[in-house]
Amino acid sequence: MNLIDQLAVTYREKFGHTPAHIARAPGRVNLLGEHVDYNDGFVLPAAIDHATYVAFSPTNARHSTLVAVDFNQQASFSPETIPSKTQADSSPLPEWALYPAGVLWTLLEENLPILSMNAVYASNIPRGSGLSSSASVEMAFMIAWQTLGRWTLPPMRRALLGQKAENKYVGVNCGIMDQFASACGVEDNILLLDCRSLEWETASLPKDVAIVIADTTIRRKLTSGEYNKRRAACEEAVRLLKEDLPDIKALRDVSMDEFSHLSAKLSKKVKKRARHVVEEIERSKQALPLLKTGDIQNFGRLMNECHISLRDLYEVSCPELDVMARIAQSLDGCYGARLTGAGFGGCTVNLVALEQAEQFAQALATGYESETGFHPEIYITRASNGAELLK
Ligand code: ADP
Ligand code: MG
Repeated sequence: MNLIDQLAVTYREKFGHTPAHIARAPGRVNLLGEHVDYNDGFVLPAAIDHATYVAFSPTNARHSTLVAVDFNQQASFSPETIPSKTQADSSPLPEWALYPAGVLWTLLEENLPILSMNAVYASNIPRGSGLSSSASVEMAFMIAWQTLGRWTLPPMRRALLGQKAENKYVGVNCGIMDQFASACGVEDNILLLDCRSLEWETASLPKDVAIVIADTTIRRKLTSGEYNKRRAACEEAVRLLKEDLPDIKALRDVSMDEFSHLSAKLSKKVKKRARHVVEEIERSKQALPLLKTGDIQNFGRLMNECHISLRDLYEVSCPELDVMARIAQSLDGCYGARLTGAGFGGCTVNLVALEQAEQFAQALATGYESETGFHPEIYITRASNGAELLK
């Protein structure tokens, strides 16, 4: 049985009737533009065909009741219990429920009409592996409350509210890329988002190219400290470069030329970090024309360069990610492979000729396992539409 049918069955068992609606919101993967979102750069994510699905109906009860199938748990909350992050019985909301509750909180702040719902939801996006299961939950519930409230917000607005929910209600300091990709995804297209202006466009990915995601299954703890250090290094670089370039606001504003003239004034470490950012923003600028002309070969080359830069300059890779990228790059049909997401573990993203994708996935899994001893998860996926109402 597929996930949607399963959800409908669980919904009926729990609430005694067929769900009125089903919403879907995808996870995402970033193909290029890594660690540049907080430098006002460009990111090139795609929504993927792994998604969170919510079966839901309106209810006259004051509380919304949500069942998270993947956690085998239930929670309930109402506009009155939202500020205290508690349930109908005054117990605290479990962590997973903060995501949908946070969405409701932002919608209440916007004074949008809200109806209570009964909902059952599940996802085939692995959690915590950098494919944005959290944003997909938020965007799925945005669609659900939008449907019941009979209002419509543009996808980017929904994304921004989802980000606000995650930042301010859940308490996770994420950028806009995850919610943006989950909300605005376009089938068979890569998205290009300007993280400063929030303007975005799309470029189609040839139908004979697959996006293959390879999960090292390595999860490093305490990476937020490293992440904060990278951000601080970028801020330090801007502060020092400002002495010569008073108009810059972020590393986005520094050209490659300016950087090579002025970088001597940065410490060795800050120079490496900033160089990654300046060059990665340059790569992401080169990417769009390549995609528009279907030059996946050279787009893939930029992905390979990005991996080296993340490994050697930004220093956010780890041995397992390096093994995964190196094996992938040596296999037939692979255009490009690199670590994706914050780093220190998680996944690589690969562009692979569709007809070789199965073979590629098998060889990659075997090679990775024999070198590291870890059994990887490999997903052959394609660029999908953003969050939507299916029924
Ligand atoms: P990711 O990189 O996958 O977004 P996060 O740590 O940001 O990882 O978010 C994971 C959290 O999102 C989970 O701990 C859970 O609270 C919530 N979440 C993700 N998927 C589901 C799901 N299928 N059901 C309920 N909650 C989910
Ligand atoms: Mg997340």
